[in-house]
Amino acid sequence: MDFRFTQEQEFFRAAVRDTVDRLIRPKTQAVDEADDFPRELWKEFAALGYLGLRHPERYGGMDADVLTSMIFYEELARGSCGFSMTVTMQILMGTYFVGRFGSEAIKQRVLVPAIKGEKIGTICFTEDQSGSDLGGTRTTAVRKDNGWLLNGRKMWVTNGPICDFCTVLATTDPSKGMEGLSFFLVEDGTPGFGRGQIIKKLGSHGSVTGELIFDNVWVPDENLLGEGPGNGVKLTTAILNEVRVMTALSACAIANEAMGDARKYAQERVAFGKPIAQYQLIRGKFGSHWAWYEAARLLAYKAAWMIEEKQECQHECMLAKMFAAEMCLSAVDEASRIYGGNSFAMEYAQQRYFRDARFLLFGGGCHEVLLNTLGAAYLRRGGK
Ligand SMILES: Cc1cc2nc3c(=O)[nH]c(=O)nc-3n(C[C@H](O)[C@H](O)[C@H](O)COP(=O)(O)OP(=O)(O)OC[C@H]3O[C@@H](n4cnc5c(N)ncnc54)[C@H](O)[C@@H]3O)c2cc1C
Repeated sequence: MDFRFTQEQEFFRAAVRDTVDRLIRPKTQAVDEADDFPRELWKEFAALGYLGLRHPERYGGMDADVLTSMIFYEELARGSCGFSMTVTMQILMGTYFVGRFGSEAIKQRVLVPAIKGEKIGTICFTEDQSGSDLGGTRTTAVRKDNGWLLNGRKMWVTNGPICDFCTVLATTDPSKGMEGLSFFLVEDGTPGFGRGQIIKKLGSHGSVTGELIFDNVWVPDENLLGEGPGNGVKLTTAILNEVRVMTALSACAIANEAMGDARKYAQERVAFGKPIAQYQLIRGKFGSHWAWYEAARLLAYKAAWMIEEKQECQHECMLAKMFAAEMCLSAVDEASRIYGGNSFAMEYAQQRYFRDARFLLFGGGCHEVLLNTLGAAYLRRGGK
């Protein structure tokens, strides 16, 4: 075994870290307070080419491997959780189906400008009545004139209010449940495509979220992204693995920021005549956080390595996401206790870490649902 990153990966991490420190971190608080899409920051960031991280070079991408991309996501989340969500949506879910299944014409029209940041993409599964349970999808796609007619509404769409294109999950056969679902590309300007409410969120400010409306939206056959109708859910497995490990490493980054700030605070804050870092109950928080953090990070990078090696690793990716998110929730809680009353003041970043971390419970799957799946898999395994 070898736990070291390669020299190339270390150089890449240092370059991304430098970008995040220069470009994003000075604006983190302003982005959080404005709670709007930071268009200027987006343009500056897009010019660096990272939006094509996982896409082939012939479309302007970087063709990076999975481990390199995970290093990128971990460093990015140090900057701003909201901006990181906008960017990761563009790199991963937002362009995945277009990049993998789009025709050459679609790739030139949609993927190439998306990699340059000139078009913004997203994916929409969730509806008012269905989130975890995709089998409850009510958006329909019906055959019409060598194409498909889409009707329905999607909720909680990251980048929804600003997207130029979206990949939409719809049922082509409601009687088949999950096996009747497919993904369709819908581009802004298509008649019947509109936007509904914008959702004001607790955290992840800077990532704009809202509702999308499909009212008799007709798209041609080539906009069905995948191998024929009914393969939608099957095709999400590969990308969901990456999304879960990305979420795990974002959790590690947020936890590290919160506890890193708390370490400095504990060394400077004096109570009863000495810095609070000298009290055992405070030190214990750092000791146990260190253990959980290291374990979470190892699980996440192991899962990333398994994806890279093309091993079956759906469960390992779920474990990594769930463990790291719970670790992060505990870290932001402990860090805010170390800050005492100041953790409640908007002037300190602790309140932002606390708000941002809540998203980790739902992104990449709710923990109750993941536990259900993992528990059933564990029971099936048998042996010891
Ligand atoms: C900031 C943010 C951004 C998002 N961005 C997007 C996006 O870009 N595109 C998109 O499509 N969606 C997006 N979502 C939606 C997200 O994917 C859903 O919130 C998530 O899938 C959970 O669905 P739900 O909220 O409807 O909860 P539900 O599925 O209704 O779950 C509610 C509760 O019931 C529990 N539960 C459900 N089923 C079971 C079960 N079988 N066993 C035990 N417990 C169960 C859950 O764990 C949870 O505690 C976003 C959400 C947030 C918060």
